[in-house]
Amino acid sequence: MRSQKLGYHLWNVILFLIVQQVEGQQYLDQWQKIDVQHYDFSISLSDTSDVIYSSADIKVVFKEPVKSFSLDLADKDEHGKGMVVKRVSVNGIESRFRHVNDSLYIYPGNAKAITSATINIEYSGIPADGLIISENKFGERTFFSDNWPDHAHSWLPCIDHPNDKATVEFKVSAPDYYQVIASGDMVEEITLDNQNKLTHWESEEPLSTKVMAIGVARFAIDTVENNLHVPISTWVYPIDANKGFTDYMNAAEPLSFFITHIAPYPFSKLANVQSTTVFGGMENAGNIFYQESLVTGNQRQEGTIVHEIAHQWFGNSVSERTWYHVWLSEGFSTYLTDLYYEYKYGRDVFKSRMIRERNLVIRYSKRNNSTVIDTTVTVDMTLLNPNTYEKGGWFLHMLRKELGDKLFWQCIVTFYEKYKYSNALTADFQNIVDSLSGKNMNLFFEQWLSKPGHPQLDIRWYQKRKNVCVKIEQLQKSFIFDFPLDLEFVSKDGSMNTVTVHVNKVLETYSFPVESTIENIVPDPDVWLLYEGKVTRKKF
Ligand SMILES: [Zn+2]
Repeated sequence: MRSQKLGYHLWNVILFLIVQQVEGQQYLDQWQKIDVQHYDFSISLSDTSDVIYSSADIKVVFKEPVKSFSLDLADKDEHGKGMVVKRVSVNGIESRFRHVNDSLYIYPGNAKAITSATINIEYSGIPADGLIISENKFGERTFFSDNWPDHAHSWLPCIDHPNDKATVEFKVSAPDYYQVIASGDMVEEITLDNQNKLTHWESEEPLSTKVMAIGVARFAIDTVENNLHVPISTWVYPIDANKGFTDYMNAAEPLSFFITHIAPYPFSKLANVQSTTVFGGMENAGNIFYQESLVTGNQRQEGTIVHEIAHQWFGNSVSERTWYHVWLSEGFSTYLTDLYYEYKYGRDVFKSRMIRERNLVIRYSKRNNSTVIDTTVTVDMTLLNPNTYEKGGWFLHMLRKELGDKLFWQCIVTFYEKYKYSNALTADFQNIVDSLSGKNMNLFFEQWLSKPGHPQLDIRWYQKRKNVCVKIEQLQKSFIFDFPLDLEFVSKDGSMNTVTVHVNKVLETYSFPVESTIENIVPDPDVWLLYEGKVTRKKF
């Protein structure tokens, strides 16, 4: 996703949204036991109250025979919000359950342990989160899910972790003047007798709960013609129809770029949806939700649209196996957006984006001595920061320099192909890079993803007749990095010559023979290195 304020200051201002839930034992226990195959949610929404009435049929297999198990589902909080379970049955037999601490413990009550089950759960309540029932900016009532990162269980019984993917269908009953969009394809729309309408959507692709979605509102809908064999549509509030249709009309171009460079589009449709999401854009699989206030009619959202479309491959189809590896979503989408800008607008625009993103990483490192893969992180908005976005993107940029364009894209494509509709860790990506490059990339992955900071260089140089002496010192305290550094020698006559040095010590001096008088040395002239530093012409 993209934060609402494009400056990425979300993590500073939105701490109130923190859910104190560390990756941990709870999910480990669940993974070892359960694998959800399919969710079938029937949900009734109304205008008379914010209570949702729901019946969930969930197909699971157990990795070993069990006599009890648990699903995630928020119970009632002190404000009266949350879900109350009325009845649970397992394989058609009413079962005992206990609903505490956002967990629904289910005891099938059969003496024999079971290896698979269809669980039916009837429940109701006002969602405290996850499904936002509110008024949009025009004062019209809307219902939009906002499941990321783990808010699905605020309104849906599920395994609320990206590692357990399942197919899903939503059968939404709502007043008939609303349109309903949800994950997958529309199966049917049926008028019910009480001025309600049932809208049924089903995703045949397995999804993580974080990117399952429904949106219920009065929408104006437009179809975006394309030759990609992907149904593309725009769903915006009727009052914003003209502006919104204009803003999202160019979605086919980034879609085409990613199809060409990565793989066929992984989902059955692409809908760009105006919504009340707390994010600038939220990449829900096949139906991206964009913050309602960003619709202007001036096509100012291009960066966000490209980023969310890139997520359909990385984030939604290939998903992080644990939240510690969220950069596999955000870093990939950030850099894929940069690559699209390079393709569309050229090298100079691309370079200025990379410089801006590098500055964000540098600024963030002054406040946070943390790493891209961060095992201390909590599952909340703090997952979204310049390490997981821009530093993750910069990692891929430096990897591209290391491998060359052709091998870089082969690694991206192979990683995608192997883990599509599934989950991966950083080590899975590294294995592919190691194997396709024939190199051991341990140090490269380790220093940029698992060490804090970046090279802080003090570069001094002077010329003595036909020789230029250069001294490079790494000033950062945390870790001594190992990297190639391009140095561009600018001669008095304006000619330029670039040499590459391999830096891997605290302090190193180099000597270069030159033919002319050197005026200046420019480090990293083509913007390939994540570093900060200064150059001084001074004898040492
Ligand atoms: Zn994102």
